[in-house]
Amino acid sequence: MNPIRVTIWNEFVHERDVGAVGDFIRSIYPDGIHAHLAGRLDAPDLAIRTATLDEPANGLPEEVLNTTDVLLWWGHCAHDRVPDDLVTRIQARVLSGMGLIVLHSGHFSKVFRRLLGTDCRLRWREIGEKERVWVVAPGHPLTAGVPETFTLPHSEMYGEPFDIPDDGKVIFMSWFEGGNPFRSGVAFQRGAGRIFYFSPGHETYPIYHDPNILRVLANAIRWSAGPTLPPRVTPQPEPLEKVSTPNPLAAINTAELHSTR
Ligand code: ZN
Repeated sequence: MNPIRVTIWNEFVHERDVGAVGDFIRSIYPDGIHAHLAGRLDAPDLAIRTATLDEPANGLPEEVLNTTDVLLWWGHCAHDRVPDDLVTRIQARVLSGMGLIVLHSGHFSKVFRRLLGTDCRLRWREIGEKERVWVVAPGHPLTAGVPETFTLPHSEMYGEPFDIPDDGKVIFMSWFEGGNPFRSGVAFQRGAGRIFYFSPGHETYPIYHDPNILRVLANAIRWSAGPTLPPRVTPQPEPLEKVSTPNPLAAINTAELHSTR
């Protein structure tokens, strides 16, 4: 079987920050979150490459995007630097079947908001509090091998209300030490593409070193690579039964109204 072709995209800004915060983040992710995840998620059935914002074509030229089965997206402070035409190309790839895994602050990325159609705002607080993650869809492939509940000792609080459409299936819920609940893992389908949003992953905590978090991401890659294209529907089907209602527009050629369909 051909390996799943995975591209891990990172805006790769915080890890290059000058100063104490940048130094701290580099102590957790020396070569960037993208490189760290590529190393930790490596498996025989995956062909993983990385891409970053400052690379030519923002790391995602046609030849890369068109040969990506699953795209992981980590962005935070540079959402506005992602060109709209790239967002349109990613949207088209998802609609035709590419998997998309949106990580942490990617909730506010152009591509996630475009695909979901809502503002995707949420509450947040950064005081290093504990996060407890719960599986709320046991048996779902995204939860395979993940304990029913586990904790992250330090996390950034993301809290409800989370402005996402209600067609998402909630897979994980989180509770934060300060009292807030959050839908921390939500699965969507757009066209033929599967999308998974997973919130744990703030850059100043070693969350992507946690084996449970890595298990969820590995599950998400294999789950989101899964769907196949739905069959194309006939745009103008012949009636299945005899239509006796007189067509009031019979004398007019209405075909030209539909010429772009
Ligand atoms: Zn964050």
